Amino acid sequence: MPEQPIPQASTHSSPPQAASIQYMKGIGPRRAEALAVAGILTPSDLLRFYPRSYIDRNSVPSLRDLKTALVNAQQQDAFSEQNMNLQTEVTVVAFVRAVRDRTFGKNRTMVAVELDDHSGVKAEIVFWNQAEYFKRIYQEDQLLAVSGIAEYAYGKIQFNHPEIERIEPDDAESYTAGRILPKYRLTQKMKDAGLTMRVMRNLVSAVVEQEIPNLHETLSEELLAKFDFPGIQSAARQLHFPDSHEALHKARERMKFEELFFFEMLLAMRHNGIKSIDKAPAIGEKSPLARLLLELLPFDLTRAQKRVLREALDDMRSTKPMNRLLQGDVGSGKTVVALLAMLAAIDAGLQCVMMAPTEILAEQHYNTLRDYIEKLNTKLADIQDPRKISVAQLVGGQKKRQRAAISEQILSGEANIIVGTHALFQSTVEYKRLGLVVIDEQHRFGVLQRAELKKKATASFANDAELTAEEISPHIMVMSATPIPRTLSMTVYGDLDVSVIDELPKNRKTIKTKVVFESKLPVVFQFLREQVEKGHQAYIVYPLVEKSEKVEAKSAVEHHERLQHEIFPDLKLGLLHGQMLWYEKEDAMKAFKNKEFHILVATTVVEVGIDVPNATVMLIENADRFGLAQLHQLRGRVGRGAEQSFCLLATKDHFKFHIGKRENEAQERKSCIIRLKTMQDTSDGFKIAEVDLKLRGPGDFLGTRQSGIPEFTFADLVSDGDVIAIARREAFAIVAEDPHLRKSEHTTIRNEFLRQHQKDFTLLDVA
Ligand code: ADP
Ligand code: MG
Repeated sequence: MPEQPIPQASTHSSPPQAASIQYMKGIGPRRAEALAVAGILTPSDLLRFYPRSYIDRNSVPSLRDLKTALVNAQQQDAFSEQNMNLQTEVTVVAFVRAVRDRTFGKNRTMVAVELDDHSGVKAEIVFWNQAEYFKRIYQEDQLLAVSGIAEYAYGKIQFNHPEIERIEPDDAESYTAGRILPKYRLTQKMKDAGLTMRVMRNLVSAVVEQEIPNLHETLSEELLAKFDFPGIQSAARQLHFPDSHEALHKARERMKFEELFFFEMLLAMRHNGIKSIDKAPAIGEKSPLARLLLELLPFDLTRAQKRVLREALDDMRSTKPMNRLLQGDVGSGKTVVALLAMLAAIDAGLQCVMMAPTEILAEQHYNTLRDYIEKLNTKLADIQDPRKISVAQLVGGQKKRQRAAISEQILSGEANIIVGTHALFQSTVEYKRLGLVVIDEQHRFGVLQRAELKKKATASFANDAELTAEEISPHIMVMSATPIPRTLSMTVYGDLDVSVIDELPKNRKTIKTKVVFESKLPVVFQFLREQVEKGHQAYIVYPLVEKSEKVEAKSAVEHHERLQHEIFPDLKLGLLHGQMLWYEKEDAMKAFKNKEFHILVATTVVEVGIDVPNATVMLIENADRFGLAQLHQLRGRVGRGAEQSFCLLATKDHFKFHIGKRENEAQERKSCIIRLKTMQDTSDGFKIAEVDLKLRGPGDFLGTRQSGIPEFTFADLVSDGDVIAIARREAFAIVAEDPHLRKSEHTTIRNEFLRQHQKDFTLLDVA
């Protein structure tokens, strides 16, 4: 079950001068303070402190059933879907049968609490250290609700650092009577103040009666009827004290829908352009420059590239600003599509920007574009076209004078395309008719950065001869090589139109990927040597061992040294790591590209930015330390030419399941295996992304702070794809039909929308 964040005081409207919770019966200053820390200040806050989970006889498996499930799962492939899902927590209810302690060596003690639920199978909770404490707390015949990850090992069910709750005699009765009991997220502070689960249930029970009449409906009658959702008051009651599983399910569905619906409303409003009256400069779809480049390309565009280019050109023809996401796996050929779109913009007399998340990637794009543009310029000269296209680069590491010269070219409009990093929207940079903004690896940038660039673009039309009267916004194309599962792209990129390049150029061969154990490294090195002897090149990648770049560099330097002297004394080994200066990195990459090195020893900085088709093998050491997205990106550095390529994922020899002593150790190990196995089994970026999302959860997957997605209390972006789709459809339909929510049947929605998003949408208020 996903963690339920502490509700914010703003989830629903609370009465203006709500009484402090301290004056409620049963709450003194100490309890009030403990609640305040968790954001519960008023009775209505407490009403919105929804349970994180529930227990009842039906949802709690007997120990016998749990054992069967665990044993079955073990017999499955360790990587099966079922096994992955077992990482979710289970709750069992059982009596304490015995409490035993043992001492290991001098001072390592453990306490084993044996559990029995009369099903004929027993379970055990193990605590390391603090034996005296646990022995005092747990006593025979107590009834416990134990929630956590269960493992079956050594003939026993074991719980790994579970959350334990004593079921008090009163509750034991309602539990056995078949009621569904809410479980609240109690902090240590609450427990210390005597706010046990039972006290909490009683407090909430009092509040429910008193506060529910104050809850305002947020959804329209039409939506409630259409989906047969309970009203907000009934839903709130059922969430705390469900009458049945069905009623609880309905209430949860309603809350999920509500959260997602108002978020999708925001996206629909943005998408509809209500927020601004922006106009973009229209770009003619016939572009002589693009046509010329197409003739020069040594390949034909794939069908997917053509389709996506067409979609972008169609967008840009209109004065409605393009907001398009171009998704495509590594190597699917996004850059050239972006370049063709930029050439169309240049034909329309506009400037273009291409923004990359790192200097290395910016450099790579710069070099790629410059190569294309040079050829284009030669061709232009050939056909006596007086135009000369110019590409400039703007990154952080540049010298002042160099920067000034480039700024001048940008301001004068002499630079047609500017490639760069965040430096692109520094205050000193001014553009001239900036009409198209291309953003690479969008997931690393936030909505804010997009907005910054937009501002720059608007300013660049300030004294424009043709376009002055209106707010000018550039066309925006964002590119992502990180395939994102569909459910997420509906939220993260919800205000963008999505184009997908779902086809790789024809000459590609699938990269052969294999997990290898470290004891086999000599064989792997021999294999690398053979590839080199065939005239190919290789990468050896080391993880970022510590969070510090210095340490990372050191380890790469050391490995480089060792490999060069001990393993490959007759070969030339290059070195690339994050601590090198940008031009040093560029030199290293250039040298590798020019075949001056046989092998490039690198850290994750090679993840982006290197395009060396002659490199056919990549060895990733300690591959278990990398995330899936990173492994996928790294692997994308090979397989870029026509030759068969290989990716070897080295990891420690021992990968046995056992119950970790540290919290989450067993889970982490499982997750490692799933990552490596996924890499070995598939090269489909979208499949990899699905697994990655499952393993990490959406917050980690996207980096929530950057993504602009709120934290939902009820909705789960991983598993609620169907609700997202419905909420999105409804929200977009309503906004299309009634953009300002002026119709009377939309009043409740409008009120709630404004309450949540007023800051963003002051315009709505005008009506
Ligand atoms: P990505 O989508 O990862 O940014 P790139 O744009 O870097 O991919 O393209 C990867 C490589 O494929 C480049 O070397 C590029 O020149 C080449 N390429 C792009 N389109 C095609 C195509 N249609 N046919 C063959 N090669 C292509
Ligand atoms: Mg790219």
